[in-house]
Amino acid sequence: MTARRLDGKAIALQIRAEITEQVGQFVAAGHAPPKLAAILVGDDPASQVYVRNKERACQKAGIESLLDRMPVDTTQEQLLGRIAELNADPSVSGILVQLPLPSKDQGGAGLDERAVLDAVDPGKDVDAFSPVNVGLLMQGRPRFLPCTPHGIIQLLHRCDIETSGKHVVVVGRSDIVGKPMAMMLAQKDGSCGPRTANATVTLAHSRTANLTEVCRSADILIAAVGRPEMIRGDMIREGAVVIDVGINRVGDRLVGDVAFEEAEAVASATTPVPGGVGPLTIAMLLHNTLMAAKWQAEA
Ligand code: NDP
Repeated sequence: MTARRLDGKAIALQIRAEITEQVGQFVAAGHAPPKLAAILVGDDPASQVYVRNKERACQKAGIESLLDRMPVDTTQEQLLGRIAELNADPSVSGILVQLPLPSKDQGGAGLDERAVLDAVDPGKDVDAFSPVNVGLLMQGRPRFLPCTPHGIIQLLHRCDIETSGKHVVVVGRSDIVGKPMAMMLAQKDGSCGPRTANATVTLAHSRTANLTEVCRSADILIAAVGRPEMIRGDMIREGAVVIDVGINRVGDRLVGDVAFEEAEAVASATTPVPGGVGPLTIAMLLHNTLMAAKWQAEA
């Protein structure tokens, strides 16, 4: 069997075109364009690339972007002060703080990441990291959906992959990907996306016993581990759908958490790295920024 390749890049472009059209309608109705403010502390090269990509994507969609570069030794007080200014600025629709924040080894001031993320106004929290937005998601009445799992929901939906009644194994339990992904797929109704609820979900992690067996029981296997090609062909059930969230740099190559060729030989569908889940994450950030602007306009 050669698996169908789920083209996240093409679907992300389609979603971005839809958002561009909706932004145009929003502005034509007399509103100021949505605006995303990104705070980047320090000069981590990977973070600079991510922030630049987000800025470019905003511009293409007609969303204004504001990049706030702060020095590596920014103090907690300075960073919280800047977030408070952006919270209070009515021209700013969405705020994101690019992670990771610099560690002390990198010259950082020992910033408390949790306190920083908690300080973002939940109504502007386009990454959906604040406890308010996490709580609303947990209760099945989300406001913002976290971008990477929401991108995966969109991918499954737009590729006609049904989740209801399916066994989904999510490997990785981070607050950013694994945990919200599991919660979104287990919802009773379509609150987190059309036709993508009612899955039976197993959330696996580094202490999971018999990981190979657990993964082999999945109809849909989602890998968000951060370990290059950890998911091998023998961990995949014949005909399963495999979604690879991992982005790992190995030499000058980017590889996922799944051994792609081995997966292609047994799965019914797979996502490539790059060009799979990554582009969808940015598309859903644009979606959240537009939603934030719309809610603020209605308030
Ligand atoms: P984290 O490092 O925060 O979490 C990794 C998770 O994997 C943890 O829950 C950990 O378990 C689990 N894990 C680690 N080793 C094993 C193992 N041997 N067996 C089973 N589980 C294991 O990572 P993130 O969730 O932030 O990111 C995961 C990957 O996704 C990374 O490659 C990252 O670059 C990528 N990513 C991609 C995005 C995209 O847009 N495509 C967006 C965000 C992330 P435990 O909790 O027990 O430690």
